[in-house]
Amino acid sequence: MSTLDPADWAGLRALGHKMLDDMVDHLATLRDGPVWQPMPPAVRAGFNAPLPVQGMPLEALYERFRADIQPYVTGNTHPRFMGWVHGGGNAISMLAELLAGAMNANCGGRDHAGIAVERQVIAWSAKMFGMPAETSGVLLTGSSMANFVAVLCARTKTLGQVGRSNGVAGHKLTAYASAGVHRCVPGALDMAGLGSDALRRIPVDEDFRMDTRQLRAAIAADRGAGRTPFLIVGTAGTVDVGAFDELGTLADIAAEAGAWFHVDGAFGALAALSPTHKPALAGLERADSVAFDFHKWAQVTYDAGCVLVRDPDIELATFAQATSYLAAAPRGLAGGAPWPCDLGPDLSRGFRALKIWMTLCAYGTQALGAIVDETCALARRLAGLIQASPGLTLLAPVKLNIVCFGIAGFSDAQTAALVADLQEEGLFAPSTTIIGGRLAIRAAIVNHRTSAADIDALVAEIIRRI
Ligand SMILES: *Cc1c(COP(=O)(O)O)cnc(C)c1O
Repeated sequence: MSTLDPADWAGLRALGHKMLDDMVDHLATLRDGPVWQPMPPAVRAGFNAPLPVQGMPLEALYERFRADIQPYVTGNTHPRFMGWVHGGGNAISMLAELLAGAMNANCGGRDHAGIAVERQVIAWSAKMFGMPAETSGVLLTGSSMANFVAVLCARTKTLGQVGRSNGVAGHKLTAYASAGVHRCVPGALDMAGLGSDALRRIPVDEDFRMDTRQLRAAIAADRGAGRTPFLIVGTAGTVDVGAFDELGTLADIAAEAGAWFHVDGAFGALAALSPTHKPALAGLERADSVAFDFHKWAQVTYDAGCVLVRDPDIELATFAQATSYLAAAPRGLAGGAPWPCDLGPDLSRGFRALKIWMTLCAYGTQALGAIVDETCALARRLAGLIQASPGLTLLAPVKLNIVCFGIAGFSDAQTAALVADLQEEGLFAPSTTIIGGRLAIRAAIVNHRTSAADIDALVAEIIRRI
């Protein structure tokens, strides 16, 4: 019998200490390196290697990581990364991943601390958003999966168990969201077997919020055509410009229509931690379900998504399998049902809750809320600099932490080239989006490490190049 444990624990310990020292140095000196660098072809080719049959010395393996992997990551830990919506992570969460790795807990179920910690995280999340104490939920990879879980719960609400056994055949279930909806919502309808065409994309007003008059009209028209409006998805923080739908009005309309009210708050729901921005979320507390990520604005390391479901019975009715649920014992290791595997699609799953719990405990919601405020203030600073620069134009109102802008006289191709240059030179990593049919530069300030100097430098660098 050959165990995988080392013959020499002292050697492993020494290497482990070196890894930890190196990773702490890495976090402490992020700013000195490039935001991102493309992987050289020779390094990339190294990942086309044959399956290893013989092992290799750990020191050499670690050197390989240092040389070929660590330098070529996404870059979202860097203060000058402003693309898409990526969180910066934090040191406590990094350490928690090491601790969770040592425990190697399977958090699909059974009676152990991992499940208790996850329930605590779910209860705290419900509290953050003003949802009832009995709200249930489960941790997932991200909001894409959380939105998927919400769609399945909405299906259960409308079709009951028949929807699980027979599918949606014949029922013309129809969902509604704003034109700014994230692509994973039609994706969720697709995966649920409803088809992405089951989603009506309602136009937005000048503030990029769903036009609720047109929403009512679309629901009435679909009902008249024999369809069943079953789900309204409000977005709290659209991914293009950071707009918030009017959640209270959407809750009213969903109640009138007998539809499930879901909020995709992937990053924006965390604005609940900021007293300044919380009012924009009024109505979130009435949601039947909420999807959000701890790995974006809450700075937990990837991946850390979450879905909350107001009615625990519906979440159970959507996922519990009679075989596993009923097998749960009243006591012993098989006790403590319902388990996370009864509340979501995964059976075996890791201890994601630990890094979230440790991040919340270590910093507290006040500090995390302050990061929400500070990143929004940086976005306003950026918007101000753009408005003061004759060559630059703001292309959408800055309600939150996202700034979309254009360059006077630049074609879409020129804008795309400028952004790619900034990324490839390792200076800044903004991304792009389409606003009003035109390619815009998009900076989403999510990282707690980004400073006013970084914002000023971004504008100065762009002006230097135009
Ligand atoms: C990021 C995001 C998603 C997708 O979340 P993942 O964690 O990437 O799966 C969905 N909706 C919105 C509004 C987002 O910003």
